[in-house]
Amino acid sequence: MPLYEYKCIRCETRFDALRAMADADDPIECPGCGGAETHRLISLFSAVGDEGVIAGAGDSCGSCTPSASCATCAAKSAR
Ligand SMILES: [Zn+2]
Repeated sequence: MPLYEYKCIRCETRFDALRAMADADDPIECPGCGGAETHRLISLFSAVGDEGVIAGAGDSCGSCTPSASCATCAAKSAR
């Protein structure tokens, strides 16, 4: 079963729970205050992955390669 991370809206406790994928968005009781007002957080793995992609893109425009910048980006870095 995958591990999901939840956060309580009432007391802001963060906690993990092993749940079936089908139950991931079902209400779950907060271990801190016993309330059911919790929401699921984005998985840590995908968050780190997204950040890596953004950092790796740098200031290139998408048509540049790591060894050669396009005219637009070459002019930008020359400034
Ligand atoms: Zn709580």
